[in-house]
Amino acid sequence: MKVIHLSAECYPVAKIGGLGDVAGALPKYLNQLGVEAVVVMPFYERKFVQENAFDTIFQANTFLGDRPFFFEILKERTKKLGFDLYIIKIPGLLDRTEVYGYDDDIERFVAFQLAFLDWMLWSGEKADVVHCHDHQTGLVPFLLYYSSRYTSLSHINTVFTIHNGQYHGAFNWQRSYYLPEIDPWKTGLLDWKNGINPLASAVRCADVFTTVSPSYLKELSISSNGLEFLFEMEKDRGTGIINGIDTDVWDPKTDPMISTPYTAKNVAVKKAKNKELLCKQFGFSPEKPLFTFIGRLVVEKGADLLPEIFRLMLSDPDNPVSILVLGSGDVETELELSALKEAFPGQYNAYIGYNEELAHRIYAGADFILMPSRVEPCGLNQLYALRYGTIPIVNSVGGLKDTVIDLEETDGYGIKCEGATVDAVFTGIKRAVELFKNTAELHLLYPKAMALDFSWNRSAKEYIHLYQSLKPKL
Ligand code: ADP
Repeated sequence: MKVIHLSAECYPVAKIGGLGDVAGALPKYLNQLGVEAVVVMPFYERKFVQENAFDTIFQANTFLGDRPFFFEILKERTKKLGFDLYIIKIPGLLDRTEVYGYDDDIERFVAFQLAFLDWMLWSGEKADVVHCHDHQTGLVPFLLYYSSRYTSLSHINTVFTIHNGQYHGAFNWQRSYYLPEIDPWKTGLLDWKNGINPLASAVRCADVFTTVSPSYLKELSISSNGLEFLFEMEKDRGTGIINGIDTDVWDPKTDPMISTPYTAKNVAVKKAKNKELLCKQFGFSPEKPLFTFIGRLVVEKGADLLPEIFRLMLSDPDNPVSILVLGSGDVETELELSALKEAFPGQYNAYIGYNEELAHRIYAGADFILMPSRVEPCGLNQLYALRYGTIPIVNSVGGLKDTVIDLEETDGYGIKCEGATVDAVFTGIKRAVELFKNTAELHLLYPKAMALDFSWNRSAKEYIHLYQSLKPKL
């Protein structure tokens, strides 16, 4: 069986969040389990493509509506990621430094999808399944099945995975001429609320759709930025599969980015060394519990709650704590979180920006990670944190609900808060502060957290099962 993963991100080539982690890991584990899985993604001007060797395997001209464009397919030469990596270069559209955030993102990703399909059409490239990820690839199932241009590819099965259902990539019908030769009787499958909605279209047209946790599948019917009714109607066609983590990349025993590697056997001593160095760099005392937040500073993640929560934590003289933030996002939250540095020197620090290496060092050195998310499709931070013996404090939502068991429950290892509110999260933090005082309990918790199995092996098998269950198309 051959599966093509189509994604806007893929670690380490380009990663903005969990989508990149998944596209960079799942195909590797599928290959190890005997399924041929490759990744096709856009070419961005980033370090990985500059530093690695690629062969140009295909070149062609095609059209985005009436706009002609040239594209090339480049294939990474050594299979160094554990799978074949193909990148689609479209000069003037995709070859920029950032992944998202341009005024013409719609045109960029529609062109990406058309180039992918035209390459399949003209090169004779074969696949049993095209596995599309998020809205940037959401038009592919519709085009495969309802554009006469791609009839010869319409036997290919499709899977669509939703990593983030808040973003749909919607655009107005005036731009429908971007799409080649579509069946006029089927245009309803593109439409949601009088616009073309790639996410909604993929949910309806793919053979099956998945979410990255079972709870998130249920929550999309309640909150999905306007698609609630769609998910309510389609939920029986959906499956929730929890993401795994790439234990080759995220392993405190071998992680080249952390200062002192460790295992479950020596975690208490060695994790303290990682903490010491981190505290030194950010001006903290290592005796206090170190809390962190890593991630996008957006409302979905509850980042807007952080300034108030932090002020409460930092103003309690009886329970001194240190707090380190790594993230970027909404400008107002960035400014507020930066301003706290001056108000609480020696207790609080923030790195506003993206820094993969620092993220690893924080997972290794922090005591607790805060995730007050309002929406969390799966969440990887809590899984990385646990692997490094860092205890998650989470709002019980989406994938956090599915992956964290509260310490007060049987076999528990984390702290769950009932609601993304300042009060609920602060209650969880107070529990963490008490736990920190009980060194013996904490030291027992480290190896327990590190031993949890969130590896891809389990989740990759669920995807294989799903691929095998797809009905062949005639
Ligand atoms: P998202 O909704 O952003 O995809 P996930 O929890 O699924 O959230 O994945 C977040 C991933 O991005 C994790 O690997 C996390 O470590 C990483 N990450 C997020 N923000 C940053 C940052 N500012 N610097 C480094 N890594 C980050």
